[in-house]
Amino acid sequence: MGQKNITLKMPTDFTEGDLKHKIGKKQRIKNFTFQIEGKSLDARNKSNIHWLVRVLITSEEIKEKISGKDLELNIPYKKRKENVIIVGSGPAGFFAAYVLQIAGFKTSLLERGSEVEKRIKSVNDFEKTSVFNPENNYAFGEGGAGTFSDGKLTSRSKHISLERKFIIKTYIEAGAPKEIKYLAQPHLGSDKLKTILKNIRLKYCEIGGVLNFETQLTDVKIKEGNASSVETNSGVMDTSILVLATGHSAYETYRILMQKGLRFRTKNFALGCRMEHPQQIINLAQWGKEKLPGVKAAEYRLSSKADGKQQVYSFCMCPGGTIVPAAAYPNSNIVNGMSLYNRDAKFANAACVAGVNLNELLEREVSASEALDWLEKLEQSFYEQTNSYQAPSCSISDFINKKNPKSNLESSYPFGLTPEPLWDMLPVKVSNSIREGLKDFSRKIKNFESGNLVGLESKSSAVIQVLRARSGLCEGFENIYMLGEGSGYAGGIISSAADGIKGAMNIIAQFE
Ligand SMILES: Cc1cc2nc3c(=O)[nH]c(=O)nc-3n(C[C@H](O)[C@H](O)[C@H](O)COP(=O)(O)OP(=O)(O)OC[C@H]3O[C@@H](n4cnc5c(N)ncnc54)[C@H](O)[C@@H]3O)c2cc1C
Repeated sequence: MGQKNITLKMPTDFTEGDLKHKIGKKQRIKNFTFQIEGKSLDARNKSNIHWLVRVLITSEEIKEKISGKDLELNIPYKKRKENVIIVGSGPAGFFAAYVLQIAGFKTSLLERGSEVEKRIKSVNDFEKTSVFNPENNYAFGEGGAGTFSDGKLTSRSKHISLERKFIIKTYIEAGAPKEIKYLAQPHLGSDKLKTILKNIRLKYCEIGGVLNFETQLTDVKIKEGNASSVETNSGVMDTSILVLATGHSAYETYRILMQKGLRFRTKNFALGCRMEHPQQIINLAQWGKEKLPGVKAAEYRLSSKADGKQQVYSFCMCPGGTIVPAAAYPNSNIVNGMSLYNRDAKFANAACVAGVNLNELLEREVSASEALDWLEKLEQSFYEQTNSYQAPSCSISDFINKKNPKSNLESSYPFGLTPEPLWDMLPVKVSNSIREGLKDFSRKIKNFESGNLVGLESKSSAVIQVLRARSGLCEGFENIYMLGEGSGYAGGIISSAADGIKGAMNIIAQFE
């Protein structure tokens, strides 16, 4: 039996039958099976937009053989006596707990929020009543920040291919569509993610993992330089190993950890607003038409260094999605974007952010705790400006021209928008860079300047970073690991989950 990889150009609305027919014709073979291994949209030429589909064909009529082993993550099992407490059930915490449980540790996963079913209700109630729930919101609760996300499974992190394969396999086993294995831009959407979360939770519990919802870490007891137990709002728990995967929104947890001697430093991050356009504008600009059969909604990725100083770029683009109030604490206005699997909502949104080095921005050396205070204040100022969860906003052209913003901007944002001079609400250097970036983007996408800007977008990555000795181990400790986005070494679902897995594999090696 021979095997061969080929790449075929296919129309956007091709069927499996069309693909099979084309393979047979191109290879001049009759009896074969095939598997899609890659699928990406080629929209460079608007009059010939097509999929590039990479297939692996298996047939007796093929002479070639594909060499090389399909490597998989190897998680060694043995009965172990150590118990591990993992704090935070986002992608990093969940995958760390899951891998450690498979390896034979006794794991307990603590999550300050509730299971996803209850969390959904709290988020819906918040949007109906404006009463914020500090435990269950867009940042906290089962699945972490990843739950109400766009569910894009792309990552620019390097050296995570085994971990990525494991994550994708776990998601597919939990009900994710198989296409996430081969799409160049895999996407789940928040609706699919919620079902997947319930199923992976069941799987983790089936193999002996313990999930403690509504359990918030409030203190860590350190004995002879190592964590011996954790204090929570529902009691004290002893631990042999502590894994912290609390994300980059958990400001009070960061402050507890600083007091306990974990060392942090500031890191570069990004600040800005979210841009929003009717999806047709983006479809027309990218495809030359409003609809393209077989493709959900057009995307963009933009970057500019128009002011010659700071990189401005689009981030976390959500075609056919909504802008959501993503704050983890009351009286803050932070926005982010999400979508459902079908990506068929009316608007497209994406962050528009400028890179920030806080020491340069404030022209002094800033400590990690000052960086947290500074960001928290900025996030609160966006609430104070409207004195409500209505988000400050203006049109892109008003931002560019510093012109009094108009009212009644149409938006997907659930609390509505209040016209405000966003350019005056951001630090001046950030505002100036974003203005030049937006001018540049408006030259690239037709009608771009007619879109909205909504603030504040401050959560594209952590503002601080813990000092780690090796794969996740916190400097100065032998049994405290900090993983995922909150550690400052990862960002996004796949990269945070992969960091969780790498940390877990390091613990396995350490206790071998
Ligand atoms: C609206 C939105 C859309 C997004 N869309 C995408 C996307 O499409 N693709 C993508 O790759 N990324 C996306 N992201 C980013 C992604 O969700 C995060 O990068 C990822 O979730 C980080 O994973 P994590 O496990 O490190 O932390 P988190 O997901 O932040 O999880 C941390 C968990 O710790 C819990 N916790 C915090 N403190 C405590 C404590 N003291 N005690 C107990 N529990 C605690 C929290 O409740 C939370 O559940 C999005 C984020 C948001 C907010």
